Amino acid sequence: MMRFCSLGSGSGGNSTLIEASQGITSTRLLVDAGFSQRELVRRLARAGCAPEEIDAVFITHEHGDHIGCALAFAARYRLPLIMSRGTWRAVGNADFDPALLRLAKAGEAMPLGDMTLQPFAVPHDAAEPLQLALSDGVHRLGLVTDLGSAPDNVAAALAGCHALLLECNHDEDLLRNGPYHPALKKRILGSHGHLSNVAAADLLARCLHPGLAMIAAAHLSEHNNTPDLAHAALAGALGNNAPEIRIAHPTLGLDWLTLG
Ligand SMILES: [Zn+2]
Ligand SMILES: [Zn+2]
Repeated sequence: MMRFCSLGSGSGGNSTLIEASQGITSTRLLVDAGFSQRELVRRLARAGCAPEEIDAVFITHEHGDHIGCALAFAARYRLPLIMSRGTWRAVGNADFDPALLRLAKAGEAMPLGDMTLQPFAVPHDAAEPLQLALSDGVHRLGLVTDLGSAPDNVAAALAGCHALLLECNHDEDLLRNGPYHPALKKRILGSHGHLSNVAAADLLARCLHPGLAMIAAAHLSEHNNTPDLAHAALAGALGNNAPEIRIAHPTLGLDWLTLG
């Protein structure tokens, strides 16, 4: 069995909790920790999880809405902290216990209890950002946010997923005509910025297969997107027999979704 929930998703902070279980054992992975420790613990409690029940923390990249309290949180609860070498170079410090650090590399699968992590590279303006596909041997979940474009390696990494958490950052018209500074608009729209609704729909179309049962739109901009626009763009790519589409709320996140 594999399930996941979002503890919040957007520029105000991101964190996703994934649980895989086989028989009586289970493994919990926290992906990103973009909140204060107090807020993260509060949101974990909302999902029915105590910090001590987490097996590892994976950090996708060093931006504040993802790294948040990760180092202090991992140190406090003695949790393995997983990230790329580039991300560690960007945020690491000498005080952090090296015994807790595990370096991940794009294309190299990493076993963690009842699940396997399959990190892949994405184009984003960070040192060495990684996103994740996860498998429990039967089910496959893809997590992909914070990417300016979706080259073939991204679509390939998400192939065969039964559920996807997919960035739908902005509607291009809202962004272009909105209040952001031109330099920020250029960054977001660039190939190493954030994924628009249209680009997310295109990526979805490329990894669509009959086993894909669940899609969660994530990292929506509060100024440059609406849940309806994101939903409509994804639904347009799906056609008939569409998998269910959910929208991760910036603060409320998304309740547990079970694969299979
Ligand atoms: Zn982000
Ligand atoms: Zn980012």
